[in-house]
Amino acid sequence: MDSKTKVVIAGGGTAGWLTAYSLITRLGNLLDITLVESDQIGTVGVGEATIPTMRSFHHLIGIDEQEFMSATQATFKLGIQFDNWGQQNESYFHSFGEIGQRSWMAEFHEFWMEAKAQGFGGSLEDYCLELKAAKANKFATQVGKKSVNFAYHLDATAYAAYLRTKSEPAGVKRKEGLIEAVRKDQTGNISSVTLANGDEILGDVFIDCTGFRGLLIGEHLDVGYEDWSHFLAADSAIAVQTEAVEAPIPYTRSTAHPAGWQWKIPLQGRVGNGIVYSSKFLSDDDARSTLMANLSGQPLTEPRQLRFKTGRREKVWHKNCIAIGLSSGFLEPLESTSIHLVTTALLRLMKMFPFGGNSALLAEQYNREAQLEAETIRDFIILHYHLTQRDDSPFWDHYRTMAIPDSLAHRMALFRENGYAWPDDVSLFRVDSWVQVMMGQGITPQQHHQGSRMLPTEGLKQQMQVLRQMIDNAVSQLPEHDEFIKKYCPAQQL
Ligand SMILES: Cc1cc2nc3c(=O)[nH]c(=O)nc-3n(C[C@H](O)[C@H](O)[C@H](O)COP(=O)(O)OP(=O)(O)OC[C@H]3O[C@@H](n4cnc5c(N)ncnc54)[C@H](O)[C@@H]3O)c2cc1C
Repeated sequence: MDSKTKVVIAGGGTAGWLTAYSLITRLGNLLDITLVESDQIGTVGVGEATIPTMRSFHHLIGIDEQEFMSATQATFKLGIQFDNWGQQNESYFHSFGEIGQRSWMAEFHEFWMEAKAQGFGGSLEDYCLELKAAKANKFATQVGKKSVNFAYHLDATAYAAYLRTKSEPAGVKRKEGLIEAVRKDQTGNISSVTLANGDEILGDVFIDCTGFRGLLIGEHLDVGYEDWSHFLAADSAIAVQTEAVEAPIPYTRSTAHPAGWQWKIPLQGRVGNGIVYSSKFLSDDDARSTLMANLSGQPLTEPRQLRFKTGRREKVWHKNCIAIGLSSGFLEPLESTSIHLVTTALLRLMKMFPFGGNSALLAEQYNREAQLEAETIRDFIILHYHLTQRDDSPFWDHYRTMAIPDSLAHRMALFRENGYAWPDDVSLFRVDSWVQVMMGQGITPQQHHQGSRMLPTEGLKQQMQVLRQMIDNAVSQLPEHDEFIKKYCPAQQL
């Protein structure tokens, strides 16, 4: 008798294939995995910027960085440059690197504030290797003994295809076809899905990776969707690929417009662009014109319209179905967190896998953790919109004056009054992330920790100078980003 747990993955986008490959590599001896996808529906086809957690996840499931980057025309990402967010014609950087050196008692920005108060110290940006390297268009995975903290820009379609080429030889069975019917047993668990050609696929556990639609979790198990559009109003995007007119930069650019914002993601050989907006504040035609007027290369594709609703699935695990990817919720792409959320969902799933028996308590814990994670990321994204001084459009007026979650209001007030910042509860956005965005968008704390005055002025001055010098030296040793890519991971096909 086959004692393997039968897993059916509905959907073959990034979420579906990442689920398939993770489960087959880490739990393959215990699971029989079938993935169903439909060419008729296709994938969302965007999702090209990532955050550094992807590296440790890839390591866990045995993905070779050079092979994966070559297969997906990937480039390196050291952070995001935000243009026109706090004010028009202003710019700041959210880098993945550590800024300066913290002490157990006070964070580095507090030492820097003390230095500024005493008339030296330069810019906070001078103390981050990753940030300075990004701006100089330089990159290496390591400088001397120091590891660089980075993520990737990748071609989303090529990424799903790459994961497929790894998953099928490892034992994942793929079925092409449209899921037309879903059968449930008397307990309400899903027992099978039936394809348009009549094939019925039986399963013990069903993973819903069907995208925004949430075919299993939403349409068949009736799990609701908590709408967060009162916090995050964007409901539309238009994406277009363009020719590369310059060597790829090692960071994403996010440029705020009067009603929405535009992404620019450089890959090897082309650039991904898109505008994110709310249909309440901008028409599709105006969004398209804004996007097309702000491209730097010739379009390679027709602009593609996408619709979404920001929010989260009320329960991401219900009965024997777990929603992963867009079926579990969407927070808009501002901080490139969606693929990260796929990977954390997979880590959680592998730790709490329902091998049998009563899994209600596992599901409850899983849902609780997923909710906390989504709310934390939501707060970080709202911060970018709400903390603007822009008053040039109804869009920015709405965001600047809207009610925000208490958790975020508390964080902003503490930083504004005391300069105190702390990492979030799910350890995703570090102190440096919060500080870069809060300061970048205009908060100057009224106070900072006085421990920074324990050092005499000359000592503080010298330490700050040494740190800056070390970073400048390190950056000067780095190769150009493009040069590094050409040696390390040249694209297989361009
Ligand atoms: C505008 C925008 C920008 C984004 N940018 C980023 C970013 O920079 N970084 C990031 O991390 N994420 C980003 N994302 C999110 C990212 O695209 C997704 O999280 C990721 O691609 C996973 O999508 P998915 O696999 O859940 O869904 P999809 O790609 O939509 O895949 C759904 C799959 O389900 C299948 N399917 C659906 N219905 C059926 C059916 N009835 N029968 C059979 N198969 C079916 C489809 O064939 C497809 O294979 C962005 C999203 C949007 C909308």
